[in-house]
Amino acid sequence: MLQDQHYLRIPGPTPIPPSVQRAMAQPMIGHRGDETSELLLSIKPMLKKVFGTKQDVLIIAGSGTSGLEAAVVNAVKPLDEVLVIVSGAFGERFVKICKAYGIKVHTYDVEWGKAFDPEDVRDFLQYFPMVKAVFATYCETSTGVMNPVDQLAKTIKEVSDALIIVDGVSCVGGVETKMDEWDVDMMVTGSQKAFMLPAGLTFIAASNRAWAVIDSNPNRGFYLDLKKYKENLDKNTTPFTPALSLLFGLEDALKLMEAEGLTQVYARHALMKEMTRAAFRAHDIPLLADEENASDTVTAVQPEDFDAELLRKVLKQEFGLSVAGGQGHLKGQIFRVGHMGYCSPADVLQTISMMEIGLLKIGKKIELGKGIAAAQQIYLAKGEDN
Ligand SMILES: *Cc1c(COP(=O)(O)O)cnc(C)c1O
Repeated sequence: MLQDQHYLRIPGPTPIPPSVQRAMAQPMIGHRGDETSELLLSIKPMLKKVFGTKQDVLIIAGSGTSGLEAAVVNAVKPLDEVLVIVSGAFGERFVKICKAYGIKVHTYDVEWGKAFDPEDVRDFLQYFPMVKAVFATYCETSTGVMNPVDQLAKTIKEVSDALIIVDGVSCVGGVETKMDEWDVDMMVTGSQKAFMLPAGLTFIAASNRAWAVIDSNPNRGFYLDLKKYKENLDKNTTPFTPALSLLFGLEDALKLMEAEGLTQVYARHALMKEMTRAAFRAHDIPLLADEENASDTVTAVQPEDFDAELLRKVLKQEFGLSVAGGQGHLKGQIFRVGHMGYCSPADVLQTISMMEIGLLKIGKKIELGKGIAAAQQIYLAKGEDN
């Protein structure tokens, strides 16, 4: 196998564009100097567009989970009641974080592979009038499902004043996000998924309603205290040493998104999803999520007559192609193909092609090229602009 030739098709970390890689290799600068302020000043407006918000998007050095924890520790107090919508492994993570802070958690469980129904959540919430915050996952990475977070606030506000806090780690930047319009109170994402960066940054924005709660919270912790980040960002600086190399990369990645156009970025992700799904359907290989709720950034495949783990192993050995396995009780039952960030329809065609060889190698009887042809048809029908 050629050195350094990896086909990274997992739902994060994702491949890094060469210009981002070069930007991150810049020599170090002083974090309290003008260059850093200019860098933050350049990043700020671009990040807001990706979040669909007028609010400042705060940048914290830490993986996505630190952003989730920041949301919890700033917006909720110990002994407060919250509702966590759990539709997969990342919903469960919110439960664990809340419990670690002594917060009283109610869970609304959704079958893994399905999306939540905002009206059902509203009906459930009626029985819990004390709930201060509702936690939801936008793209549930463990199942490849996109949840209707756009509909959540308007529906549950009929019965509750709870804040709506959304984990958008595996899709914001790859799918349309309109935090303000959807009335989402806190949106969190991370750098290593659709943002085309390595892991190490988390981004978080809060609504005016959320800021009122944060301001009145007497104990926001220390490193993750969002007020510190906000007050500093207002002055184009950071409370602690920023991850400067990642910020160099972030500026470049955001410029790439702007150059392509956010609408086109989102259309590209939707197209990659459809091509991927069409390929598996052409081989009659079942997909975990149904058409309506399938994620544009990751596709979960649920084989009936072959071993997902064996396929993953063979793809890695033959081609250096990495796809992800299942999490939780879906471990060994599914595999997940990432198609987000620095990934194009051309990459999807290549992935499917390698996949078909992998399937034959593990003994699954398929007709070579059938999946590729299906994906090509989708591309030709919809992909003129890509
Ligand atoms: C990847 C991911 C996270 C964050 O994980 P980290 O490993 O802490 O970066 C959180 N939520 C979702 C939905 C994710 O996909």
